[in-house]
Formats: sequence, C-alpha cells, structure tokens
Amino acid sequence: MTKLKLKPGIVSGTQLDELFEYCKETQCALPAVNVIGSSSINAAIRSAREANAPIIIQFSNGGSVFNAGKYFDNTDQKTAIAGGIAGAHHVRLIAEAHGVPVVLHTDHCARKLLPWIDGLIEAGQQYYKQNGVPLYSSHMLDLSEETLEDNIAISKRYLERLAKIDMYLEIELGVTGGEEDGVDNTDVDNSKLYTQPDDVLAAYDALSPVGRITVAASFGNTHGVYKPGNVQLRPDILKHSQARIYSERKTPTEKPLSLVFHGGSGSSEKEIQQAVSYGVIKFNIDTDTQWAFTHPIKKYMDENDAYLRSQIGNPEGDDKPNKKYIDPRAWMVLGEKGMIARLKEAFSHLNATDKFDF
Ligand SMILES: [Zn+2]
Repeated sequence: MTKLKLKPGIVSGTQLDELFEYCKETQCALPAVNVIGSSSINAAIRSAREANAPIIIQFSNGGSVFNAGKYFDNTDQKTAIAGGIAGAHHVRLIAEAHGVPVVLHTDHCARKLLPWIDGLIEAGQQYYKQNGVPLYSSHMLDLSEETLEDNIAISKRYLERLAKIDMYLEIELGVTGGEEDGVDNTDVDNSKLYTQPDDVLAAYDALSPVGRITVAASFGNTHGVYKPGNVQLRPDILKHSQARIYSERKTPTEKPLSLVFHGGSGSSEKEIQQAVSYGVIKFNIDTDTQWAFTHPIKKYMDENDAYLRSQIGNPEGDDKPNKKYIDPRAWMVLGEKGMIARLKEAFSHLNATDKFDF
C-alpha cells in the first residue's frame, strides 16, 4: 500500500476520515499525547517529524488551564477556554512551520466541564467562518458517569454543532479506571470497566447518522501506571463491538468504529498491537511522557547540584557564575528530548513510523 499523503498543519474533516481509514486498513494507530504548554507541544511535533507520522496533540481541561496560567481565576472556565484557544493557535503555527500534520483534540470533558467545550466550540465556529476549517479537529465528551441515555442524548446535541464545522466527537462508553486530571475512578465497580457491545451499538445507531465519531470503549484500561492488579485488559471487547455493528447494520467495512485506547501508559507491546488490530486508531499517552519529561530533569538537577545552590560560586571557584546551569532552557530541553524519545517509541509500537508522506 502506498504511503498516505498528508498536508502539514491541522488535519480535519475529510482528510481526517481518510487518515483514520488508512490507520485501520494498515493496522497502525497514532499516539495522542497530552500537552501543557509550548515545551511539550514542540516536543510532540518534533517526535512526529522524526517518526514521519502525524501525531494527535490533546489538551485536557487541566492542561488548558495550565497553558493560560494555573494561578488565574478560572470562573466559568474562562482560563481553560483561553488556554485551549491559545494552545490551538500555537500548535497550528508550529506544525505548519515545521511541515508536520497534527490532529488537534481535547481530552475528557465531564458534564460539569461542558462550559469549557462550549467556549471552544464558539471559538471554533468563529474560526470556521473566517477560514473554512475548524480550530480543533475534534473534542471529547466524557459522560460515562451519566446514564447511557443521557450520555447519548447530550453527545448528540454536541455532535449536531460539531458536524456543522467538520469536527469529530469522541465519546466514552464504560469507565476508564485509575485517576487522571483530578478525576478519580480508582474505586469504580469493576463491571463498569468493561463496555457492553450493546451500548456501543446503541451509541452508533444514535450518533453515526448525525456526524463523525470516535469511541473510547473501556476494556479494563486504566489511567496512570500501576502495579498489575485485579483488572485484566480484554481487547476482545473491542473486537466484539466492531463485529456486533458489522453484523447488525451490514456496514461496508468490518471495522466501522474508530476506537480510542485510553490509559495507554504502561501497556505491553502485545496488548497495544492486539487493540490496534481491532480498530484502535488513537492511543492516549500521558503518564509515560510525563515521566520521560521529568526524569532527565531530575538527573540534571542531581548531577549539577553543586552548580545550582547559589547564583555565584561552584566547585571551580567561589566567584564563578552559575548562570548557564540556572537557565531553565538548559534543563527544559532535556525534558523535551526525553519526551521526543518516548513518543518515537510509541509510534514504533503503534506501527506508525514511516507510513506517511508529508
Ligand atoms: Zn483518558
């Protein structure tokens, strides 16, 4: 199969349809990395450049707030909205400057955070009016704490708005375990960690006529990296969900759903590849890239401890300046390089390296 040709910048609409179909046909998926500011954004874009594959960059609500200044007032989600819009413009400009295609997305949005997504959709409608393309490629709603009926009904209302500006909606069915961004699902009932194929069919029937969706189905996956515990990964749930829709609705392809793997950090290569073979096209990674960013910085601080105790004076002399050790660029770049290396490993595990032309 010839490599998929992509235009640099933000990928959306029909080009994103093609990208997801290509991923399913060639059994590869793209890392979806959480970013919190220019440093992690630039590292993500660089990793995609080196892997010759597009990357999915996503802002969580907390990441959006952080991007605009965590200490500011966030009444009515105003800081989160500003951080999300500013981040989108930064990603777009830097991706275009370096010739890299990027899918731009927002992560989990529970019911109480809907004003954040409302603000981003308003900005997206404005952007679409001026430019003919959306600001983001896609948003996620995570209404997995609501009833299935509410989850589907609210998702449908949002999808109607997103469809008009060529955007995707990611929904969550079942609950991702663990804890992330202040949402703690560590004590959730185990049965909720496994999505029912019937629920997936109901969501597919209600939403696919309205617009473009991706589905985060739970198959025992958890946010964060924990000691292997009592929850088993069961990727066959993904396979059964696809098969149910294919057989019930006679869809043209055997993998009608574009699936999302949440809590990818800490997964084995084999588990990843199995999930990808069942139609996972988006693989969320956060904890592993956080570690990859922070660890080299800890090493730097440890190794240069004697140069970081005061602005003047180190083992080479009491009057020697320490400016070049103190400069945050000296150690932030090490975090960025750590993150780039970890993301390149993810591209490789996801079978995406060198499969694209841009
Ligand atoms: Zn998640």
